[in-house]
Amino acid sequence: MDTEKLAKLLYPNAKTTEYWLEKYPKRELKKGAEVTRLAPSPTGYLHTGHAYSALINKLTAKKSGGIFYLRLEDTDQKRLIDHAGDIAYHMLVSYDLTPDEGYRGDELAQIGDYGDYIQSKRLGIYQSFAKSLVEKGKAFPCFCKKTEGIEDVEERRQKQLEETGNIEEKDPCRELTYEQIEEKIKNGEEFALKLKSNGNLDKTIVVEDLIKGKREIRENAKDIVLMKSNGIPPYAFAHAVDDSLMGTTIVVRGEEWYPSLSAHLELFNALGFKPPKYAHTPVICKLDKNGNKRKLSKRKDPEADVRFFIEEGYPKVAVIEYLLNLLNSDFEIWRTNNPTLSYKEFPFSISKIGSNNPMFDFIKLADISKNYISRLSADEVYTMLVEWAKRFDIDFCKILTENSDFSKSVLNIDRTTPKPRKDIAKWNEVKNYYDYMFYGIKNYQLEDVDKSKLKEAIKAYSVVYNENDDKQVWFEKIKNLANKLGYATDNKLYKQNPQAYKGNVADLCTYIRLALTGRKNSPDIYEIAKILGTREVQRRFKNIEKQ
Ligand code: GLU
Repeated sequence: MDTEKLAKLLYPNAKTTEYWLEKYPKRELKKGAEVTRLAPSPTGYLHTGHAYSALINKLTAKKSGGIFYLRLEDTDQKRLIDHAGDIAYHMLVSYDLTPDEGYRGDELAQIGDYGDYIQSKRLGIYQSFAKSLVEKGKAFPCFCKKTEGIEDVEERRQKQLEETGNIEEKDPCRELTYEQIEEKIKNGEEFALKLKSNGNLDKTIVVEDLIKGKREIRENAKDIVLMKSNGIPPYAFAHAVDDSLMGTTIVVRGEEWYPSLSAHLELFNALGFKPPKYAHTPVICKLDKNGNKRKLSKRKDPEADVRFFIEEGYPKVAVIEYLLNLLNSDFEIWRTNNPTLSYKEFPFSISKIGSNNPMFDFIKLADISKNYISRLSADEVYTMLVEWAKRFDIDFCKILTENSDFSKSVLNIDRTTPKPRKDIAKWNEVKNYYDYMFYGIKNYQLEDVDKSKLKEAIKAYSVVYNENDDKQVWFEKIKNLANKLGYATDNKLYKQNPQAYKGNVADLCTYIRLALTGRKNSPDIYEIAKILGTREVQRRFKNIEKQ
């Protein structure tokens, strides 16, 4: 068949591929520089898996002096959601994963010489390359209607697999003559364009994935769809064209794409482009109730949506460090050895990504977050907390900002010690954690507490308490008081004969703690009392009489 004539018949108005190749010349990059991209389908939110890929992309590009860009893959018109791309972009920015190039939300102009970075605006480009494949005899139009349901297809494939040991899907429309095609076009019949696969399922190719390593996979033998009848390309063709024209050097994508790799490689080959390197990332999973591993699901798991972490008040750096820890298992040791460095200094490497699917673990996330927050100054904590509260807890925000010095002092408790406390993992915990500082005491934890001993102790202590005492004097006073009231100051003696005492110094401190905070456990009560000030301290001591 005269394929050039066929190409003209199918795509009479398409520009030449040379036009585009001239418009998008090869990037001038320094040696070793990698061009990476995130290519989300705009589905209304950014999946945690996207943040995970974006992090790989961003760090890899940065480390190599390359470029990380954002492309919107919005060709699945049925699933489109308004402003979804905008949300994705802004989520990336808020996690400090801002792309260097590409789509930048609905308001800002795109940057970069390889746009448009929205696939639905690139239909003319796809047409040109589709036409070139027809010219080369590597693609053909298919006029079949979608009459087969998914079950029929599966049944047919299963049967074929049983009979021949493989699935070969050579399309019957391959056999149409030029005249038949011309006739159909004249009659206004719509067509999809399909790849004329050269592959043979009995043959294998060796591929090298940056994460999975070298493997042998079956050749593709399927005549995959390149352009749907509405003129829109499915993912495979669109990504092959875009990643080639945009100069992507590494495609980082979820491993659910790995089974299609041979089809994609055949496509690059047919187009005459060198395929990029691929890194198929393991997918973040979790255990369901029955102990089975499954992928994070948008429907079932709030943590599948990165907005969840923002709403809960996990600091963004903590989330990123958690993801980094899933990606490179030596991150944790590095962090311990380099407590003051930014995660950006970590020697991240794609080659250190394990091929097992990591499990999402809230305990680990909280642990990383607590460590991160413990390294911040009170001013930093205050700023981040207020920023969070402004959006998610406006009443608490007012309280925090009304007396910012007081708030900062509270947030500074046990922070400047050699071993800062590590008990806050997210901003929505602060209000409850320090409710006795911001709201007063609503409930006292007085179960198992001897109230008469408590009242006696506080009454006596309120007489000697002096705000100006330094910590040593303060503690001396408590010890003196212990002696006076019959509490043991020597723990050894106390252990030998507890009955001889009302308790020990720790018990006495618990009473003071209860009076000041309502709780049996709290950060340093010396600091708490200082921040509350004498008037409030004495008022709280008085309150104990009423309990
Ligand atoms: N649009 C595809 C997705 O969201 C992108 C895959 C890729 O990164 O190539 O899964």
